Amino acid sequence: MSEYNDATKAIHAGARQTQEQENSEAIFMTSSFAYSSAEEAAGKFSGEEDGNVYSRFTNPTVELFEKRLAALEKGEAAIATSSGMAALMTLAYSLLSAGDRVVCSRNIFGSTVKFFNTYTVKFGVEVVYVDATDYNAWEEAINDKTRLCYFETPSNPLYEVVDVAKVAELAHAKGALLCVDTVLATPALQNPLTQGADIVMQSATKFIDGQGRCLGGALIASKDIVDVFTAFMRSAGPCMSPFNAWVLLNGLETLSLRMTAHSSNALKLAQFLEAHPKVLKVNYGGLPSHKYHELAKKQQKDFGGLLSFEVEGGRKAAWAFINATKLMSITGNLGDTKTLVTHPATTTHGRLTDEEKAKAGIAEGLVRVSVGLEDIDDIIADVESALAQL
Ligand SMILES: *Cc1c(COP(=O)(O)O)cnc(C)c1O
Repeated sequence: MSEYNDATKAIHAGARQTQEQENSEAIFMTSSFAYSSAEEAAGKFSGEEDGNVYSRFTNPTVELFEKRLAALEKGEAAIATSSGMAALMTLAYSLLSAGDRVVCSRNIFGSTVKFFNTYTVKFGVEVVYVDATDYNAWEEAINDKTRLCYFETPSNPLYEVVDVAKVAELAHAKGALLCVDTVLATPALQNPLTQGADIVMQSATKFIDGQGRCLGGALIASKDIVDVFTAFMRSAGPCMSPFNAWVLLNGLETLSLRMTAHSSNALKLAQFLEAHPKVLKVNYGGLPSHKYHELAKKQQKDFGGLLSFEVEGGRKAAWAFINATKLMSITGNLGDTKTLVTHPATTTHGRLTDEEKAKAGIAEGLVRVSVGLEDIDDIIADVESALAQL
């Protein structure tokens, strides 16, 4: 597929027809595979013969999703997981040993912090946090023991943008690997592997599915690194279901078109909010006033569908706004055709301590909107009437 452009790869990469000659990709809902002889079974299990063994680590539909995603991320290979957090677990348990250090950005997905602080440290791995855009802090924190650097760009919900090439250089100088979570950008808007990252982490649950139907995750990297993840998958099993792989595979076909439409709607809503007297601050990379606008423009093809804004009056006002919306779904998810509204401080980031929230900039008056694909005039009208009630 390498001779084709991204839009073509999104529709064809990895596809293979069975003898039934189907045009839409088949779903292989099977746990195992049956062989013609004991000899063949032995050859498949030992790896001497190529082929499917057991759907915990070899399934044709899951493999198709992996190949298509790897093609779009410009990586050699990918491994699919049952969720984004399962991808993080696969990354951590495959690569880290006692005595290693992880350097992670502070403004990161709430469950990522919980996972590192509760589970990774239990096995003698040290995790230290730095401000994502303070490159001196990265340099100071990355020592000879550092095995992994990890950050999110753009970040959720504040839209901080981290310079991938800069952190990659600092990590590689000490022999560490860099993994970037680009769930908000998706492979349609940014390819960190071409910017210096070693591994990309995706929650396919979000824009890759794009319609809020199922969970999934993935890690994309060189073949050598993905082989290490596959060995872990075979023993530990946080695998993607073939049915979810099929849904997500179809999501990839329209991802680029949807991201363009999400970006266009989000920019219009951000501009409306920025001009509104009851809004203190809007966090969206597409606004020229945003601190990271230039870097986002350099690293990304567009700015995506997620924004957040702060209203005056703290939690009370934020909740009143959310409760006054009519069109939006009140939910912790993001990346849906439907517009979704969230109060980060009491939902997605609710498990952080007050101190952790303050350090991460999650104010009580902060509202997050995952801008959907409805008519933007209807979305703006909903926001306008909800703000009018504050
Ligand atoms: C949702 C999300 C995750 C976790 O993915 P799940 O599929 O929900 O497990 C990780 N990082 C970011 C930025 C996310 O939005």
